[in-house]
Amino acid sequence: MKIEILNVSDGEVFNYGVVLIYGAVDTPALDVSRTIYISQTDDLQVQAMDLRGNKFKHLVRLRPGENHFVFQYLNKMAQLTLIREIVQSDIQHVFKLFYIVCSDDQDGRFQSPEDQPHDLATAISRMKLGAELMQCFLGDSLACQGFLHKAIHFNQDDGDLLFRPKVEVLHSGLTIEQARAMSGQELWEFHGKELLKRGHLGEEMKCIAIMSATSYQNPGQIKPKSHQDTLDMTQGHAALGGGGLALFGSGCLYTWPDKIDQVQARFQDQTPVNWKKFMDDSGYRGTIGGCFATSLGAIIHEVGHCLDLEHTTDGIMARGFDDLDFYFTVIDRTTSTPIAQPCLSLTQTLSNSHGPLSGPEKISGKDLIDQYHLKLHLSKIKKLFGGAFWSGSGVLILNHHKWLNDYGKSQSSIFLSKENQIQSPKWPIQLVDVRDHNFFSTSYLEVDAHTLNLADLDRTYGSARQFLVINSIGDVLKIEKPT
Ligand SMILES: [Zn+2]
Repeated sequence: MKIEILNVSDGEVFNYGVVLIYGAVDTPALDVSRTIYISQTDDLQVQAMDLRGNKFKHLVRLRPGENHFVFQYLNKMAQLTLIREIVQSDIQHVFKLFYIVCSDDQDGRFQSPEDQPHDLATAISRMKLGAELMQCFLGDSLACQGFLHKAIHFNQDDGDLLFRPKVEVLHSGLTIEQARAMSGQELWEFHGKELLKRGHLGEEMKCIAIMSATSYQNPGQIKPKSHQDTLDMTQGHAALGGGGLALFGSGCLYTWPDKIDQVQARFQDQTPVNWKKFMDDSGYRGTIGGCFATSLGAIIHEVGHCLDLEHTTDGIMARGFDDLDFYFTVIDRTTSTPIAQPCLSLTQTLSNSHGPLSGPEKISGKDLIDQYHLKLHLSKIKKLFGGAFWSGSGVLILNHHKWLNDYGKSQSSIFLSKENQIQSPKWPIQLVDVRDHNFFSTSYLEVDAHTLNLADLDRTYGSARQFLVINSIGDVLKIEKPT
């Protein structure tokens, strides 16, 4: 009999604070006890967790430095040490978190059942935890596909000994009435300009923002038949990401927890949504847990767009983000998530175009055996996480991305020459992602070269609308083909 920790190793280093530990008890004694006890040194509490089958998942908060854990099942014990390294405050690429409050909003409350807290301080503490869960998912989702635990970095509150993400309040120039009269895209453009003017967006700064003004109204008490019906009843809402801003409504913030020990129970909360009064954005599950999973998962999806990812056939950049509950808890679920459109992509309005294309040179394709192993690996991940994984090129782009690495300050060193050669003299090109006319990521090519010929890409991927090229220090070049 033994206790196995499956996703982290002893002595592993993290540069973010919340980590999911999942493991299994290899034992024939499951009918004797289904409880595993977990304690964290310096924390006097011992937590009892129910095993699901023989598995468990446990969320922990790491303090700076070494963190020691003891797992006990019957008479067996396992120990684990995880180390938290604090990210330097002068790191180059950071995300800022904003809660947007309208100019005539006195208190910044969000829509929620009256008997539950829904003031500005609650919004901020829920967003902080949400941001930590995003880092947790990002890091682990990269690690389970064979890379290091890497996540985006947030600004941190001065003097916070736990170095948690900082959430700032943006007092918008919009009134509540104006915000509720605007479409998601209009709100994205307006708040994007506000953040830019106030110096919160730039080459080294992106933002994730949630708007307090969101309001779901269903005076006719008509049960929404589709998500579009729900959206039609919701004002001041957005779920859009691209460029430097991922923007969301607060319509489902009432379903979010603000304490780490509430997270797993909340994901599993099967309480039906009161659609007469509150927004149901649960991917047609109609539950509080479903709303939490879908709304937090949607932010990760939109952050994916901000990190240059496009839609894929499955995974987070499709509708796999509904399955965030699958990732954070042990769920035996046989039904798949419903069919729905991922989101309205902003890419077309944000991307830049380059000149005409030409040139010759051969590029090697992926090896068939590698593809076979990748497929096998992905099928295991799908079993563990449902759709909550990065499909296709997503994980490769994130692994090299500047916003998940600390490469220091440097000028972009990748460009398209007049001779239509893609050149990256200092750092080798690692990947070409191929996007179609709907800005759907259809294929990708892993390379290790300083020069690529655009005409070769053109010949191989005739129907491509855009190539995204990324080098080993995350310099990105997007080349668009004229329509
Ligand atoms: Zn999308």
